[in-house]
Order: sequence, then structure tokens, then C-alpha cells
Amino acid sequence: MSEQTERQTVIREDLARNLERLEDLIASSCRAANRARSEVELVAVSKNHPAEALVAAVELRLRVFGENRVQEFAAKSVELAAAGVRGRMRAHLIGHLQSNKAAKAVEVFDAVDSVDSLRLAERLDEAAGRIGKRLPVLLEIKLSHEESKAGLAPDSTELAELLEKLPSLHNLEAQGLMTIAPLDVPEDETRGCFRALKLLRDRFAVEHPRLNLPVLSMGMSGDFSLAIAEGATRIRVGTALFGMRPGYPK
Ligand SMILES: *Cc1c(COP(=O)(O)O)cnc(C)c1O
Repeated sequence: MSEQTERQTVIREDLARNLERLEDLIASSCRAANRARSEVELVAVSKNHPAEALVAAVELRLRVFGENRVQEFAAKSVELAAAGVRGRMRAHLIGHLQSNKAAKAVEVFDAVDSVDSLRLAERLDEAAGRIGKRLPVLLEIKLSHEESKAGLAPDSTELAELLEKLPSLHNLEAQGLMTIAPLDVPEDETRGCFRALKLLRDRFAVEHPRLNLPVLSMGMSGDFSLAIAEGATRIRVGTALFGMRPGYPK
């Protein structure tokens, strides 16, 4: 066996084991919450992992991937295409995006789950329009008070303006909301954050009947069970699938 094939085999075996364990946990979380497994979409967060890891994941039938950097995924995308799997997967941007990189992001990603400003939404809409693409997006909401977190504040005028404007941004398809719960806080605080996202979505459904926001992207490796209990329809799992991110403190 060549070194490369051997490495690919190790990657696939580790991933298969992690995926099986993760699927068991997702299934039991769904059962406990009285929800069907099919209500929860798994986003495999592959940031900082090599294209080989994504190839193995596609072979294990994972279909949706989360990445947080445009350049990093642009490079991997070329490798994925060469390996013949790019057409069998969808890539979602889940990290902060600077408006000046909107055009490149629209080119390489199938969806942007981290729209955190009105300006970014406008730039994405323009860029998508130029290449004739309709881009699914989620609005990232900041529900914790950590300074480091991106996202629109729930009661901000910017969010209100964006919600007003969304129906006229014809190249964007707003599908829902996304949030990142604070790390290392008591469980009830994490839960409170997820619950707040769902309540916010329910409020927007009443206040903005022209919008349809069924997707709630919340929950990561450490807290997806709580997110499923609170109504997550999409969870974003990295470490529990691919292991620790190489060369990256977090
Ligand atoms: C990295 C990341 C994840 C995955 O985190 P894990 O703890 O490794 O599961 C999920 N969502 C976002 C926005 C991320 O940046």
C-alpha cells in the first residue's frame, strides 16, 4: 500500500468510528426530545482538516460540510474536485466573512450560515446576482455577551433593518438563524441561549410574515444534545467527528 493510501485508510477508519458514536448520540438526543432524526441535519465541520478528511467523509455519506475560511476552502475545493467528490457535497461557510471577500465566498461556497451584518448581506446579494446564483443564508445572532463573538445583536436596529430588507435581496434565500453558545458555562446558560434563538425565530415569524426561517443552526461537539432538546434543526460538529484540529489552538 502506498503511504498516501495507508493514511487515507487510517483517516477513514477513525472517522467511521467517530461517526458511528456521534450518530448514536444524535439518535438518543432526538429520542429524548421526542423528535425524528430526520429533523436534524448534521454539518460536518472540517475546518483546519485536510481535503483527504473530507473525501473520507463523503465516502461515509456525509454530505454537508462547514468551513470557516474562504481561502482555505477554495484550495480544498480544487482537491475535492480532483478527487471527484465536490459535486457530491455542499460546503457552508460558518465563520466570519469580511465584506470584501463576499464575491470569492459566493463562488466557492454553496451557502453562508454566518451572515452577521447588513453590509455583508448586500455584498453577498450583489455577488450572487453577478454569477446568477441563488445563495442560501442564515443570519448569525449573538446571544452571549462575549466580546469575541460575531453576530447581530437580537434587538439591534441593524438586525431590524436587515429583516426588512431581506425580501428585496432576491439573490439570497434566507432560511433561518444561527448562533454559537458561550463555551464553558453552566448547562442552563447554554440551554437558555438555544431557547432564546428559537423564541427569536418565532417572534420574527410573526413580525415578518414574508420571511420563512425554518432553520435553527445551533449546537457543536460539546453541546449538540442540548441544542437538539431546544429545537435545533442543524448542528455543526467538528471535533467529535474529525478529532482535534491540527495546528490550531481552537
Ligand atoms: C469550529 C466550529 C464548530 C465546530 O466546533 P466543534 O466544537 O469542533 O464541534 C461549529 N460552529 C462554528 C461556527 C465553528 O466555528
